[in-house]
Amino acid sequence: MFGIGIPELTILFILFVMIAAVVIGVVLLIRRSTQGANKNPRAVFCMQCGTQNAGNATHCARCGTALQSPQLGSSDSSVPNYLAQAILTTIFCCVPLGIPAIVFAAQVNSKLAAGDRAGAVEASKKAKLWCWISFVAGVGFVIIYFAIIIIGMLGGKQYY
Ligand SMILES: [Zn+2]
Repeated sequence: MFGIGIPELTILFILFVMIAAVVIGVVLLIRRSTQGANKNPRAVFCMQCGTQNAGNATHCARCGTALQSPQLGSSDSSVPNYLAQAILTTIFCCVPLGIPAIVFAAQVNSKLAAGDRAGAVEASKKAKLWCWISFVAGVGFVIIYFAIIIIGMLGGKQYY
């Protein structure tokens, strides 16, 4: 009579709890790692040679290139990395489309750490875009999936 029986529902529930536990663990890990990264926000890395300079330095101590000072912009935390959203949409919506979102989200923090604020903002925008693409694709897939189940149930009723 029902498309999904009790054992299947139990398995789905256990799977859902396991996925939720993994997601909570990942989100907590990300929070801890971003807090650790913010402990040393003053260090500026040269975009030319990669040398670490003091945050108040205007030019690289090694090659003399003008440094992008973090004080020019607002706080580094104003660039959202969308990493949590990217991971959530990857797990719950669409794995192939969520992977670019995670890649771009990961680039946000690494580019901020390298002093490349413009690159971080660009990666942030791409991460947000791929989160939405993954989310829309995932929601579309779920709607089609349930539509097929409902059509199958309605079709099945005709035989009883
Ligand atoms: Zn340099």
